[in-house]
Amino acid sequence: MGVGFGSDQSQFLCEGNGYCEKLPWPTELIKLSHSYLQEARVNQTENRNSDSGGAPWTVLRLLQWTTDFFRSKGSDSPRLDAEILLSHARNCSRVELYTAYASVPSDDERVAFREMVRRRGSGMPVAQIVGYREFYSLSFRVSEATLIPRPETEHLIVEAIDCAKEMSSFESSPWIMDIGTGSGVIAITLAKHLPQSRIVATDISADALQIAKWNAEQHGVSDRLNFVQCDLLSGVSQPDRFSLICSNPPYITDAEYSELDSSVREFEPKNALVSGPKGTEIIERVIEVCRDRLVTGGFCIVEMSPMIAESCRAIAEDAAIFDDVKLVKDLAGHQRLLSMRRQQD
Ligand code: GLN
Repeated sequence: MGVGFGSDQSQFLCEGNGYCEKLPWPTELIKLSHSYLQEARVNQTENRNSDSGGAPWTVLRLLQWTTDFFRSKGSDSPRLDAEILLSHARNCSRVELYTAYASVPSDDERVAFREMVRRRGSGMPVAQIVGYREFYSLSFRVSEATLIPRPETEHLIVEAIDCAKEMSSFESSPWIMDIGTGSGVIAITLAKHLPQSRIVATDISADALQIAKWNAEQHGVSDRLNFVQCDLLSGVSQPDRFSLICSNPPYITDAEYSELDSSVREFEPKNALVSGPKGTEIIERVIEVCRDRLVTGGFCIVEMSPMIAESCRAIAEDAAIFDDVKLVKDLAGHQRLLSMRRQQD
């Protein structure tokens, strides 16, 4: 099926794995894309004979050309980017591309692909072009209002599941808190993997929460997940205390932000990334919240950057409410998580 040209525009840019047949895209994006695509279609018709050099634009040739193009634009993963976009344009999985190298995509598929390649070439992240990102083997809708989930955050999930198991002797249906949920990846992934748990997730952004709620519905966990728009836990009255408080808060310093890749600065929300001059400002507030809202023996797990790991550990120890404070490394060997256990009062 060609993507994006059916009379039913809600099918535009649907996922290749069939997980969401009808993705409710924002109207402006559909209109914008549709007009771009119509224009691109005209250009393609005009250029058809001149741009292929005679050889047909097979799947393999498109992938090779696009990989080189993305590499020249500085992408860290040019082949992967090309494969995700082409499989999206063809409404198939990436694996299916490998058995279709010799086939020639339809005009509609090629036009849709070109438009996505143009966007990627201008720096837009692949996840925002296709509208979703894989996290912990689950698919999550993202938008310009949400941080794009990073693989590093998967370590937080592993650690949280371990802590929940450790607590299972005294807490079989734990209350879990996800502060600054964004697209909802942490809350929803934990809900899937800890079926006895009940979860509250907060964010200050109403637009991000809309995406998170959509994701929760897609993953069938809405009944155990409550979303609240507020700063940290300020708008959450129930329950009084949580067994597990998780957060991937903004932890980048103002100075680091100016050094970030321009595609991050241009396309991802700054308030999901930047904490302040020190980087520890919000983590410090999350730790302080544990004083009144974390049960005895409960865990707080926070993602951070290796640059502020020792400062975070010192802040946690100075709070004098934890009997165990540890730093956990990610796969690259960087200190990535701060994990703390609440001591007896
Ligand atoms: N919890 C979300 C994530 O890990 C959002 C984090 C954020 O906005 N800082 O992707």
